[in-house]
Amino acid sequence: MVAAGEAHSRETSVLGRSTLGRPIQLIELGNPDGTPVLVVGCVHGNEPAGIGVARLLAEHPPAGIHLWVVPMLNPDGRARNTRGNARGVDLNRNFPYRWRALDGVYESGARPLSEPEARLAYRLILRIRPAVSIWFHQHLDLVWASGGEAVVARAYARASGLRYRRLPALPGSAIDWQNHALPGTTALAVELPVGSPSRAASVRYARAVAAAARVSRRTP
Ligand SMILES: [Zn+2]
Repeated sequence: MVAAGEAHSRETSVLGRSTLGRPIQLIELGNPDGTPVLVVGCVHGNEPAGIGVARLLAEHPPAGIHLWVVPMLNPDGRARNTRGNARGVDLNRNFPYRWRALDGVYESGARPLSEPEARLAYRLILRIRPAVSIWFHQHLDLVWASGGEAVVARAYARASGLRYRRLPALPGSAIDWQNHALPGTTALAVELPVGSPSRAASVRYARAVAAAARVSRRTP
């Protein structure tokens, strides 16, 4: 919760449009002098559990944080319940760090940042330079750390009750690109369990964002 007397702002805007023209919402809120934190609720359209967690954060921003929330980066994939976007591209293989041409379920696009949704996230991250970025996925039931500061991912894991796992970088992934492009910041993937989280679990996953932000470097 935002502390009494703490500076607080809230602005909802359209970050941009998906491949099929659906609006992608961005909510900026919290303390403009606080630690910059980005939360992406859903990038793979068939992994929706984080959307509710992102919306909960937007309703109850933790104190001391300047928070940007993108509840759903892949609305076309969500509408079809597919991992990829409308063109079948896995947005989490479309970022420029160690991008490789991949086919099938991990289809990585024609080239790095070929997809509008990935470009929107890329430009947002370069603009706000989040000290911590948290991307929600499913269904591995763990915190996926592959760069940045381990203490941040460990803090998220401890507060959320999810397992911490140090895992290799993946070609073209969003978190590995940020961890490479913005040294001193930490991007991590939170793999929520299968199914729809209970209200209590969603509150725990949302509160863990503040725990991760508290141990991050205040200014990258
Ligand atoms: Zn995923």
